[in-house]
Amino acid sequence: MKITFLGTGTSDGVPMIGCKCEVCRSRNKKNKRLRSSILITHKNKNYLIDTSIDFREQMLRENINHIENIFYTHSHADHTYGIVDIRAINWAMNNKTIDCYGNKETIDDLAERYDFIFNPIQRGGGLPSIKFKIIDKPMQINGLTITPINILHGILPILGYRFNNFAYITDASKIEKSSLDIIKDVDVLVINTLRYRDHSTHFGAQTAVDIIQSLNVKRTYLTHMTHDINHNKFLHELPKNIEPAFDGLKIYI
Ligand SMILES: [Zn+2]
Ligand SMILES: [Zn+2]
Ligand SMILES: [Zn+2]
Repeated sequence: MKITFLGTGTSDGVPMIGCKCEVCRSRNKKNKRLRSSILITHKNKNYLIDTSIDFREQMLRENINHIENIFYTHSHADHTYGIVDIRAINWAMNNKTIDCYGNKETIDDLAERYDFIFNPIQRGGGLPSIKFKIIDKPMQINGLTITPINILHGILPILGYRFNNFAYITDASKIEKSSLDIIKDVDVLVINTLRYRDHSTHFGAQTAVDIIQSLNVKRTYLTHMTHDINHNKFLHELPKNIEPAFDGLKIYI
């Protein structure tokens, strides 16, 4: 299984428009963050988590021309606005329709927000060919066991996902014990860390580290970071088993 970090930034991205802080001006590529999304490649099939605002740029950068399934964590703009560009992937796959999974709240909200995909106002022009489906229990796809993980993003119930021995959690501010039990023994975990301080809808660094160290996970990568995080500095401050992810990072499990 190969994991590709398509984007590791918070909703603003880094650099942030109009900001002149040290991280936004940094020349270190690891401080350039598109909006958060990852690609899981297994047996030559691609599984995408979220279609970020930067989806098009991410697909071009990583040379991706097929996606078998998409899994949504939640319906916020930074995780979904790339949805319209799925049409180019459909075309590259002989107009194959792509099944997109999420919890009921996410699917209902996406169907409402992006209703023009299903109720076009005129014929002509291309729209993505997708089918929304609810995932509420583990499912098997081509040798992968995919388990939805219920987490809280402020008061919003959203999903993380476990793919075999890998788990991805973003935008969490609370994880109940029953969900921690699903991720406690994975080989690799990705979890969100917005900045140093906690936020009402996101983990800050100390909270994330405390949760990670309470688990039995071999290696953890942090994602969904603001310009508060300077990659090299943060890397040295973290325990040895934890590191900040960066755009373009690939890991093999
Ligand atoms: Zn987000
Ligand atoms: Zn900045
Ligand atoms: Zn969010």
